[in-house]
Amino acid sequence: MTPDATTPDPTDTPTPRRWEMRSPDRETEDILADTAQDALDECEEWLRDGAWDYGYLDAEVAPYVDGEPDYDASEMREIIVGDPEPEPDCDDNDDHDWQSPHKVVGGLDSNPGVWSRGGSQIATQEVCAHCGRYRDTVSESTPGQHPRTPERVTYSEADEASRAWVADEAVSDE
Ligand SMILES: [Zn+2]
Repeated sequence: MTPDATTPDPTDTPTPRRWEMRSPDRETEDILADTAQDALDECEEWLRDGAWDYGYLDAEVAPYVDGEPDYDASEMREIIVGDPEPEPDCDDNDDHDWQSPHKVVGGLDSNPGVWSRGGSQIATQEVCAHCGRYRDTVSESTPGQHPRTPERVTYSEADEASRAWVADEAVSDE
């Protein structure tokens, strides 16, 4: 019976145990950590050193059981890596006018461009009434959820649907 094979009792003083960290591209590295949260903290730092595109990644750690990492008992955490995209300039040197027209962004009639992303996060899509570019936002997870997943904002170029809507808006504003 090795200490690694026992289930840690949270009331005990934690003793470091061995974990295997695994990246989304299946690289692994061993660490020692007292708790799954500590191991995930290390894994998060380890992943942040990688050259990832901006976005969410799953950090994963598996405790060693009987000398092998046990991925049935692994713990995961969603983190955000990479550098955020700068907001692209609007076409007429104006500020973007972000709106949620149902016919462009879809979703519910009463709440267009808004989706639940699972967990406590909300995904929203908006479109600029001037240039037709899209802004996609995934909200921060709600307070109380540990760990917090930060907000992610990405932008994409105008397409046929958004350009048609911008043209309609320009006409109806006159
Ligand atoms: Zn714009």
